[in-house]
Amino acid sequence: MIIPSITLGDGLTFPAITFGTYKLNGKAGVVSMKSAIEAGYHALDSAVNYENEGALGEAIRQSGHKREHLRIASKLPGRHHHFDEAIVMIEESLYRARLDYFDLYYIHWPNPKQGLYVEAWKALIEAKKRGYVRSIAVCNFLPEHLMKLKEETGVLPSINQIELHPYFPQAEQRAFNKQHGIVTQSWSPLGRASDLLTNPLLEKIAEKHGKSVAQIVLRWHHQLDAIPIPKATHHKRQMENKDIFDFSLTDEDMKSIATLARPDGRIKGQDPATHEGA
Ligand code: NAP
Repeated sequence: MIIPSITLGDGLTFPAITFGTYKLNGKAGVVSMKSAIEAGYHALDSAVNYENEGALGEAIRQSGHKREHLRIASKLPGRHHHFDEAIVMIEESLYRARLDYFDLYYIHWPNPKQGLYVEAWKALIEAKKRGYVRSIAVCNFLPEHLMKLKEETGVLPSINQIELHPYFPQAEQRAFNKQHGIVTQSWSPLGRASDLLTNPLLEKIAEKHGKSVAQIVLRWHHQLDAIPIPKATHHKRQMENKDIFDFSLTDEDMKSIATLARPDGRIKGQDPATHEGA
């Protein structure tokens, strides 16, 4: 099945689904990530803090896939927001992955208490100028953080990667991103395999469409114009999770799924206004 492609605000083409790699490490991680590339995932999401950039680079090489067809991402950790440290960290990420460039590099968390995310953003702008990175992005940025980037640098991110699943649909943040030409990407799109995947309402919708609950949830992301990043260790689920582009949820389905929203549906209560990523 062909995965549709979208174009980010800065012109980079990007597939409508990304493979998540958190907890995929070492040799077993290489096997999972290579399997995902072979399953047809062309975008893979990593981070310095996942400690798997090396395994990701190895999986890319073992897959034999053309580098230019892949979209490879990593993320700057909170402890390296100072400009010079951020540049060195991106260089170190490239050495670990044994890549010449990343397609995407994100600020992992804004860490507003620390207050250095504008400095980190200036480093990402510089990294793009140097050819280390094709597109620069953020995770977990609230509207006030995005506005500060715009005011102080004139540059907005191509993507804002945020926690997003039916228990935490983030309608306002999604609308804000869209209004500013920023694509929303959904982390923990399956609610990290919480009771979401056995929710009776979702089971009913899944039965109606002849799909799994995971596929219903991932399709819901797609119809919200968000790019989901499901992580799955084995090939079977990797195949299942990308098989979402041959059916549509009805307006009625979308409305029922909206009723699952909880005032604070975050999995681990990580509010970007107060959470400081390491
Ligand atoms: P997730 O993708 O929502 O859920 C992963 C869990 O779902 C795993 O336990 C997986 O098990 C299971 N699973 C996958 N497909 C399934 C299926 N078809 N049926 C049943 N279970 C299924 O959670 P996540 O890993 O937290 O988030 C996804 C990615 O988002 C991460 O890997 C990471 O790349 C990114 N992320 C970013 C941030 C950030 O701050 N920017 C934070 C968290 C995550 P198996 O592996 O055993 O198949």
